[in-house]
Amino acid sequence: MSLHTASIGELARGLAAGQYSAVELARHFLDRIGRFNPALNAFVTVTADEALAAAAAADASRAAGRAGVLTGVPIAHKDIFCTQGVKTSCGSRMLDNFIAPYDATVVSRMAAAGVVYLGKTNMDEFAMGSSNETSWYGPVRNPWDPSRVPGGSSGGSAAAVAGRLVPAATGTDTGGSIRQPAALVGISGIKPTYGRVSRYGMIAFASSLDQAGIMAPSAEDCAYLLGAMAGFDPRDSTSVDRPVPDYVAELATPLAGLRIGVLREFMGEGLEAGTGDRVREAIDVYRRLGATVVDVSCPKLPLSVPTYYVVAPAECSSNLSRFDGVRFGYRCENPRDLLDLYQRSRAEGFGPEVQRRIMTGTYVLSAGYYDAYYLQAQKVRSLIADDFRRAFTEVDLILCPTAPGPAFPIGAKVDDPVTMYLNDIYTIGANLAGLPAMSIPCGFDGALPVGLQLIGPHFSESRMLSAAHAYQRETDWHVRVPAAYA
Ligand code: GLN
Repeated sequence: MSLHTASIGELARGLAAGQYSAVELARHFLDRIGRFNPALNAFVTVTADEALAAAAAADASRAAGRAGVLTGVPIAHKDIFCTQGVKTSCGSRMLDNFIAPYDATVVSRMAAAGVVYLGKTNMDEFAMGSSNETSWYGPVRNPWDPSRVPGGSSGGSAAAVAGRLVPAATGTDTGGSIRQPAALVGISGIKPTYGRVSRYGMIAFASSLDQAGIMAPSAEDCAYLLGAMAGFDPRDSTSVDRPVPDYVAELATPLAGLRIGVLREFMGEGLEAGTGDRVREAIDVYRRLGATVVDVSCPKLPLSVPTYYVVAPAECSSNLSRFDGVRFGYRCENPRDLLDLYQRSRAEGFGPEVQRRIMTGTYVLSAGYYDAYYLQAQKVRSLIADDFRRAFTEVDLILCPTAPGPAFPIGAKVDDPVTMYLNDIYTIGANLAGLPAMSIPCGFDGALPVGLQLIGPHFSESRMLSAAHAYQRETDWHVRVPAAYA
């Protein structure tokens, strides 16, 4: 076993047994980043000096008998999380010069657990995208095929984990941005229940949908790190005050008796054959493991894309109004007057996809159209949540594909926003309803990974992780590494 293919649990045990130090571990992964990142473009910033200092501190606390399970484990943070003293760009020219003055709660909690972050990962600009092509820092490449996208918006985290440049990375998911890239690069990724993980210090896109989570090869890896991120935070008014289970201990929950619903609406039209076949094979594995598999229907779910593309832009148009060229971030050269300063700073600082969202959002919130679009979308959103509520009276978990097909070529959809938006058709519903959901690798379509999605009722992360873990004990898709990165 080499260090970069070790699981989080193995790394934690190796550190505890003194087989290697946190500094050695950080160096190993920093070397891999140095070697492979030029081709992948997965990192916006590599924080080697800070990481080595944090690793030395982790070693010192272990020597002093103060180590926790995760002390010295290296990860990366998506560049949407504020990191004190380190550039936090959100993938945008607007924040290319922004040094955050404080840490996001996710970042400070991970640091308190002794986790060492090695850098900040590339992402779609302001987390708007499904392919990582909207980043100011250029596209990220998929380690399985460098001519293809890694998915988005957490594409940098996805590629970094898939290429084993880091053992795990944080992500955020507003409409699928953890699950879809996890699927496209063959790793696991969990978006927890809305409110489970604090949004404080996580740059806002659509606040009623945004949720932080974790991306790593296996569900077990995710369990280790989710426990360190989750929990009540008085600084986030939508954070839920509810105890965090011991996700690792609960991984062993037996699968027998689990009721799984296969989502009828997402197994037919629009689903590519190679993906559908792998998902059906995964469902067979669950049946063999003793789960009861039935069909479920959420008839309003196909409306989730149009609903999301009203709600998310509406919230983003409001959230992004803070970037005005005055307080922080990009400011245009030689403004003529205040209006010119606002207009040119925003026109030059934001890329085309962000501008499209702001315009759509402003439009649907405007006096004449609010009732027709925004209010209507909110009503449909409740109907979608009702559909899920009904389904979860019959089943414990819902299974469906994560994305309609495998990773597509860079450039293939970038000029056609609607086609791009449809890549999230299977993931957006969970965000609209605030439900936890995850993607796990379930095989390949040709040489490209395919993801299986699990969706559960609110706060069922533990059940979901143990169900994913049961599948991963039977299969080895999650330990496959692209040949060039083995
Ligand atoms: N791809 C979706 C979008 O572009 C979701 C993004 C996300 O989850 N951050 O909005």
